[in-house]
Amino acid sequence: MNILKDKIRSEGIVLSEQVLKVDAFLNHQIDPLLMQHVGHEFAQRFAGQGITKIVTIEASGIAPAIMAGLELGIPVIFARKFQSLTLKNDLLISKVFSFTKQTESTIAISSRHLSANDKVLVIDDFLANGHAAKALIDLILQAGAQVAGIGIVIEKSFQEGRSMLEREGYRVESLARIAALENGEVRFLE
Ligand code: 5GP
Repeated sequence: MNILKDKIRSEGIVLSEQVLKVDAFLNHQIDPLLMQHVGHEFAQRFAGQGITKIVTIEASGIAPAIMAGLELGIPVIFARKFQSLTLKNDLLISKVFSFTKQTESTIAISSRHLSANDKVLVIDDFLANGHAAKALIDLILQAGAQVAGIGIVIEKSFQEGRSMLEREGYRVESLARIAALENGEVRFLE
């Protein structure tokens, strides 16, 4: 997706060989027009598969997820993060290790919003080692629902996430794939 790659080239900041900062257009300040294109692209890639819901994780996944939901005409659920959680009956709960914060947190969604009849698309802003995606898949499977695939805005292909998810049989669609972050520059895979 060239418009996304151009934006990453012009406004992304390479913080290290592992971390790209995109807070000018994706996860702090948000570019709505870019998000509209992102939503459109996800909707095209996952069209015609009977997807009934999108699941993402707060906060950075919400913008791309909601635009994809708008295009596909389906609801968007975002998993909420808790430091600790008083168990409640209607919550599906999983644990996720945060790549950026290097801490573990608990994420939850209400079981009222997912059922065994749902076919779910997972969306997130970044794919690194796949922990966030795996925790979201865990919540979806706890509800007895089916995972249609994983849509990622920016994949760091030099990390483990994609291969781990593909090994488990999941379809991964990433709109920008990064081969390396080196010398302060982003090198794309394709
Ligand atoms: P994973 O769970 O796949 O290891 O990491 C994905 C999650 O960590 C995403 O939800 C994203 O918020 C965050 N993340 C991972 N890598 C980066 C990065 O390079 N930059 C930013 N801004 N967030 C990242």
